[in-house]
This record gives sequence, C-alpha cells and structure tokens, in this order.
Amino acid sequence: MFLKSINPATGEVIREYEEFHSDEINNAIEANFQAYKLWRKESINKRSELLLRAAQVLRDKQEGLAFNITVEMGKNITEARAEVEKCAKVCEFYAENGPEFLKKESIQTEAQQSYASMQPIGPILAIMPWNFPLWQVFRFAAPTLMAGNVGLLKHASNVPGCALAIENVFVEAGFPKDVFRTLLIRSSKVEKIIGDKRIKAVTLTGSTPAGKAVAATAGKHLKKCVLELGGSDPYLILKDANIDEAVDACVAGRILNAGQSCIGAKRFIIVDEVYDEFATKFTDKMRDITLGDPFDESKNMGPMARSTFREDIHRQVENSVNKGAKLLTGGYIPNRDGAYYPATVLGDVQEGMVAYHEELFGPVASLIRAKDEADAIHIANDTVFGLGAAVFTQNIEKGQRIAEYELEAGCCFVNDFVRSDPRMPFGGVKESGYGRELSHHGMMEFMNIKGVYIK
Ligand code: NAP
Repeated sequence: MFLKSINPATGEVIREYEEFHSDEINNAIEANFQAYKLWRKESINKRSELLLRAAQVLRDKQEGLAFNITVEMGKNITEARAEVEKCAKVCEFYAENGPEFLKKESIQTEAQQSYASMQPIGPILAIMPWNFPLWQVFRFAAPTLMAGNVGLLKHASNVPGCALAIENVFVEAGFPKDVFRTLLIRSSKVEKIIGDKRIKAVTLTGSTPAGKAVAATAGKHLKKCVLELGGSDPYLILKDANIDEAVDACVAGRILNAGQSCIGAKRFIIVDEVYDEFATKFTDKMRDITLGDPFDESKNMGPMARSTFREDIHRQVENSVNKGAKLLTGGYIPNRDGAYYPATVLGDVQEGMVAYHEELFGPVASLIRAKDEADAIHIANDTVFGLGAAVFTQNIEKGQRIAEYELEAGCCFVNDFVRSDPRMPFGGVKESGYGRELSHHGMMEFMNIKGVYIK
C-alpha cells in the first residue's frame, strides 16, 4: 500500500510513499521507547537548547518547507511561509518558558518538604491533520519534547512529505536519534498502536468522528487523550459593532487556508438592525477574493486540499440553497484543473439547513439573522461544537461579558478573528474535544504531576 502526495492545484501525483509494514511500525515504537529512557534524564537546559536549534533549522529551511506544504495541500505560499515561522516561534516559546513551567511547585504541609514535581510519562502518539501540516505537529511536539516525553507522529495520509520533513527538522537540530519518529501509516493501523503498552497517551487533531473513535480506543486501554476536533465558530455582529472593521476581520477569518481551519469563522450571526449593511459589505469583499495558483503571491486563495473536500462543501452549499438559503456569491465549481472553490456567501441561513448545523470546512460563510443580542447568543450556542467564537461590539465591557460568560467555546475573541498563539491556551468544549494545547496548560496535559512528600 502507498500513501500518495497529490498536488491539489493540478491533480498530479507528486510522489508515492510505501506504507510501513508491521515490523517497521514495531521497530519505530521500540526505538522511540528506548530513546525515552535517555531523553527523560536529559537536562532541561539541553532540551531547551535543542528546541532553539529546531527553530533555527525551521528558519533556515523555511522556503523548502513552505514549498512542501503548498505542493501537498494547496495553501497559498505566503501562508505556508508564515506557518513555518509560527512553528519556529512555538519552539522558542517552550525553549524559553519550559524551564519555568516545569519547575517543582512547593506545597506547604506539616512535612519537611512537599511539592508537585512535573515528570514526563513516555512515548505520545500524535494523530494529525493536513490543514496546517507543520503547525499542528509543532504545537504538540515542542512542549512534549521539552517536557521529556518523546513523540510518534501519524500524520494525515495526504501529507507524507511534510511528515518526513518534520522528523528531519529534529534530526538536523541534533535531537537524539528516535526521540521524534514519523510512522507512514493509514488510520486503520492506529487502534493497535494505541493499545501498545509502550505508548502512554494519544493526541488527535482532526474531525469529531475520528476523535470519537480514538477516544473509545484510548478509553478501552485507559490511556489519556487530548482531542482537538472540528468547529463551527460563531461570529456575533452586534448593532453597535464597527461594521467595516468587523467585515475585514470576518473575511480574513473565513478565507484563511481556503476556509479549511478548525477555528475558521464559519457562522456569522448578525442582529437584525445591521444585517443588511453587514451582508452587503461582507459579500462585496468575498466577491473580490482572487482564486489561483497557490505559488502566485498575488492571489488570495489557492485550491482546497483534495477534490473530495471540494465535492463535500459544494454538496453542503447546494443542499442549503435547496432549503432556502440565498446564494450571495460563489457556490460553483470553476471550469479548470485543480480542487478550486470560490469564496462563497450564503445569506438567510436558518435552523434546519446544513449550513446552520454542520461544519463548513471550506471558503463558505453562513449569514444568520438574529432578532437581538440574546437571540444571537442563543444561535451561537445552538451547535454541537464549541471551539472558538468572536463578538464584535464597540462596548468592550459587553463584549468581554459575552465572550467570558455567555459563549460555549474554548477561546473567545472580542473584535478580532480567532487564532492560536503559543502563549494562550487552545482547545474546545462540547464535540470540539477536550484537553488543551499551547501555553502552560498544554504542557501539563502529558505530565505525571507527582506529589512528593518528605516527612
Ligand atoms: P480527519 O479525517 O479526522 O483526519 C485527521 C487525522 O486523523 C488524520 O491523520 C487521519 O488519518 C486520522 N484519522 C481519521 N480517522 C481516524 C480513525 N478512525 N482513527 C484514527 N485516526 C483517524 O480530519 P480531516 O478531514 O483531515 O481534517 C479536518 C477536520 O479536522 C475538521 O473537522 C477540522 O475542524 C478538524 N481540525 C481541528 C483542529 C483543532 O485544533 N481543533 C485543527 C485542525 C483541524 P488519515 O489521513 O489516514 O485518514
């Protein structure tokens, strides 16, 4: 069996990679497990130094890595370069802050000494998606390796080139052999690996169905898992919002990565008084989004990552239009090679339509009219997802209250589009998953927070 790299801009097969046989999988797990025994004893300073070197390797190889990303999953080359830089930043963040995060926490008791000590747990399996093929992996790998754990990567089947390039970054940075390994396998092999005694925990970034399958297997083997799953982020536009600024942020949040982002702006919930103004200005900007060769820096958006993803989103658009949504722009399959899909806006989206309930993983925006602020909050929470959310209002106090207390989501932004940042916790609630990545909180997910008590 082969894993294929296919250029979504042309449909051309770039390269085929032979899938690992069971012996190769077993050898990689064993090597990773053995590497852990030494790595966990490595000094924190050394781990930090190696992560800084990984950041340097990422910057030195930025152009080649960005090329790999764009050619395998179609994102615009400018966005691919920014993704590589973000990976360098997350390595630096944990290299610089990891020593502080990992310090023992002194606890006052009647003992001579008592404290919580942060100890690693071993090999962690990471199952990752193709949409940010480097970033998703580095945001797991940087804190994991800094903490003294080791990593095994099962990347999405359509980005094997990126998967191998990531392993190589750690090798070139001078990390000990086998501390980070890539397994070239399909998802059908995952269940057995989670059950392997040498694997101590699992993290998955991907769709909700994949998360449920992995959580069930991890549960069966009593292994901890972190799940970063799908989202249908609501963006609330209140009547006192600065509409022009809101439109700019909403368009940027919707078209990033050709709309294939878990925290992409997906449902725009606009109070009645400003619905028409927002819909007109937003649609005009979406209509101006240029689609084309992802290596052409003058274009705003490249193709979607696979033609099947384009078929899925087109079906969701057609289904919603058949149920009464208004097609304000886009919504067609362009007559050209490659998995291109235009920036699309659906107006008057209502309960009962696919665009109201399902995640739209492509450049398609749903505009939903709300009676008032309370109705907008109700619609925002009327979803199985709870990843990100945003609220636009000039009343900061009100925006903060809604963001902090009213919206059911793992991260809420006021007057800006949602994005991840190494310094901030990231993750979801409801069917968007559980656990956190990034910040101090992300680093603690795979630690044995050991209580030590000395009488
Ligand atoms: P996907 O089909 O769930 O794939 C993601 C990863 O999971 C891939 O490595 C895939 O392997 C693997 N996988 C799929 N089914 C599995 C199963 N039953 N058991 C074990 N592994 C399995 O997701 P996708 O379509 O590639 O990515 C889009 C989804 O990911 C969206 O829903 C998006 O919102 C979500 N996402 C979430 C976040 C977040 O941080 N919350 C970030 C990015 C994306 P194969 O490729 O071999 O099938």
